Amino acid sequence: MGSMHLNRERGDPAALAAFYAERARGGAGLIITGGAAVSRVGAGGAGYGVIAEPEFARTWHTVVQAVHEAGGRIALQLFHAGRYALPRAFGLTPVAPSAVYSRFSDATPIALDDEGIAATIADFAAASRIGIGLGFDGVEIMASEGYLLNQFASPVTNLRDDAWGGDAARRCAFPVAVTRAVRSAVGSAPVLVRISGADLVEGSSTPDEVDALAVALADAGADAVDVGIGWHESRVPTVQSMVPHAAFTQVSARIRAALAAAGATVPVIASNRINTLAQAERVLAGGEADIVSMARPFLADPHIVAASFAGREATVNPCIGCNEACIDRSFGLEPVSCTVNPRAGRELEFPLAAASRPRGTRIAVVGAGPAGMEAARAAAFAGAQVTLFEAGDAIGGQFLLAGAVPGKSDFAANARSFARVLDELGVDVRTGHEATAEELVGFDHVVVATGVVPRRVELPGVERAVDYVQAFAEAARLGERVAVIGAGGIAVDLAHLLVEGVDAGPDRFLIEHGLRVGALPAPRRRVTIMRRTGAIGAGMGVTTRWAAVQEIRRRGVRTLTGVTYRAIEPSGVRVEVDGTEELIEADVVVIAAGQTPRAQLAGQLASRGIAHTVVGGARNTAGLNAVAAFEEGLRAGDAA
Ligand code: SF4
Repeated sequence: MGSMHLNRERGDPAALAAFYAERARGGAGLIITGGAAVSRVGAGGAGYGVIAEPEFARTWHTVVQAVHEAGGRIALQLFHAGRYALPRAFGLTPVAPSAVYSRFSDATPIALDDEGIAATIADFAAASRIGIGLGFDGVEIMASEGYLLNQFASPVTNLRDDAWGGDAARRCAFPVAVTRAVRSAVGSAPVLVRISGADLVEGSSTPDEVDALAVALADAGADAVDVGIGWHESRVPTVQSMVPHAAFTQVSARIRAALAAAGATVPVIASNRINTLAQAERVLAGGEADIVSMARPFLADPHIVAASFAGREATVNPCIGCNEACIDRSFGLEPVSCTVNPRAGRELEFPLAAASRPRGTRIAVVGAGPAGMEAARAAAFAGAQVTLFEAGDAIGGQFLLAGAVPGKSDFAANARSFARVLDELGVDVRTGHEATAEELVGFDHVVVATGVVPRRVELPGVERAVDYVQAFAEAARLGERVAVIGAGGIAVDLAHLLVEGVDAGPDRFLIEHGLRVGALPAPRRRVTIMRRTGAIGAGMGVTTRWAAVQEIRRRGVRTLTGVTYRAIEPSGVRVEVDGTEELIEADVVVIAAGQTPRAQLAGQLASRGIAHTVVGGARNTAGLNAVAAFEEGLRAGDAA
C-alpha cells in the first residue's frame, strides 16, 4: 500500500491506528505511511507530522503496534517537500537546491548552502533512526513527485554549479548522500527509495539520467526502487480518471532493465493508476515490475487484497479516480477519506462489528444512486432487512451516466460491485420499480434517495432542446454539431464523451502524451459548451478540473463564458458574448444547467407519519457531489 498523506496524522492516534490496521488485515503486504517530515521546514503543511517531535512518537508507536497486531508490516516514509513545502504555519520559508519559484506553494525557496545541505542529510538519518526505534519495519526515502530530493536531481530546479549540481552526476549527489546516510543509520533495516521515473516537466531529467540515478541509489544502499510519476506542477495528468490503468508501467520496466543491466539486483515497484489485483498481476507477469504499489484502491476498499485472493474480486469497491475526498483534501487541511468508501478514516466511528440490529427491522431505501446504494449497504450491514427500490433498470444513478465517459468506466464498475455486495448482504433490490408512499407503509424507516432531475431553463425555443440525461443516453446518435447550455462538471464530461465517442479506449491519451506511438483519431463532433457566469468546470475538484478542461480543449471543444442566451433556434443557440450576437450552430442543443431535487416522496411520507430520512440530491442540490451523497447514505443507513 503506497504512501498517502491523510491530514489525520496530527489527530486521534487510535483512529489513525484503526485506519492502517484495517488495511493490514485486508491484505496489504507492506504499508508505507503518509509522508512524515524530517524537519519542520520540509513539512507539506500544518497537517504533516514532524518525526522529531514528541507527539509523533506517541502517535506512531500506537499505529505500528496496531499494524503488527493485525499481522501487517509498515514502513515510515521520510519526507521533505523542499520548494513544495508549506512551512508558513511554522513561520518558515521553504528551502531547495536553488531559489526557483514554485507555483504549487506560491513561494520562492531559499537555496541551501553547504551547511544546510549537511544538516538536511543529518535530518534524514536521524529521522530514519527514530522510525526504526519506534518499531517500523523499514523506511522509504521520498525522492519523487517533485519534492526536495527530486528537485536536486532535476536541471529545472537545481541551477547550482558545485558539488551538488552542475551536471547530471552532481545533481544525483544529494539523493545518493541521503540514501547512504539513512542506510548507515538503520543498519540492516529495509530502505526503499521512491524516485521520479518521469518528471513530466519540460527540460527536466532525461530517461537515461533517471536510470543512472536508480543505479546510483542501489549502489548507495537502497533495497528497493519505488517508481513514482510526475510532479505537482506537470501538465500531464497522472492520477485522474482519464489516465488509463497502469499507463506508466513502461517506465518502471525501463528502470528495471537499467538496474539489471548494471548488475543491481534491487526490486522495482510500479505504481500510478493500478486499480485491481488483475491489473497488478498483468504488470508482474509482463516483467514490468517486481512489486506493485497501490494507494487509493486501499482507501476505496481496505480489503481489496484479501477479497481478491478469496475469489471475491467482483465485490471489491473500486477507486473511481475522482480525487475528491483524497488528494484534493490532502492539499488542504481537511482529513482524507474516500468518496465511494466514506468509512475510510472513520473506522472507529463505523466499526466492522457484528450486526447490531435485529433482522426484523425493516428498512426501505428509495433510489439506488450513490446515496441510496450506500444507505442500503450500511443498513443491511448493521443487520436490518433492507428493500432497495430503483425506478431505472439498474442501480448506480448518476454513476451510470459518468461510467460512459472516456476513462470513467470505474464509475460503472463501482455500481456493479455494489450490486454484488447488496446481493451478498441479502438486500431485496427491486429495479424498474417506482415506490409509492402506500407501499412503504409498514417499514420501520425509509431512506429517501430519489436523487435529482435536470433543471429546466426558461428560454424561447427551449422545447427544441434535450436534457443532459437524454444526451448521455443517446450520445452515439446525437448530430455532428452539439451546443451545451451549461459548463459545469456534467457538461465537461458530456463534451468529452461526445468528442471521443462511446467506444473510446485508452489509445488517444497514451498517444497524445507520448506513451504509445500512433496517429491521433480525429474528434467525433464539434461541441460547444457555454455558461453565463463562473469558470468552465467550476465545482469540479482541484486536481481534476484543470486536466478535464485541458483535455476537452485539446479535442477542439469550444468553451464560452459570460454568455447571455437569447433563444434556441432550429439551427442552434442564439447568444450574446461581449456585446456581440452570435448563432452557435448546432444540430442538437443540450441543457446541462444544474439540477433540482426529486423529493415529492418525502412530503407524502411525512403526511402519512412514516419515519424517513432524505439524503443526497433529493435533500439538497446546492454543493451536491458524490462525496456528500455517499457520506449521507452511510450515516442514514447506519442510523436507520
Ligand atoms: Fe479513489 Fe476518489 Fe476514493 Fe480517492 S476519493 S480513493 S480517487 S474513489
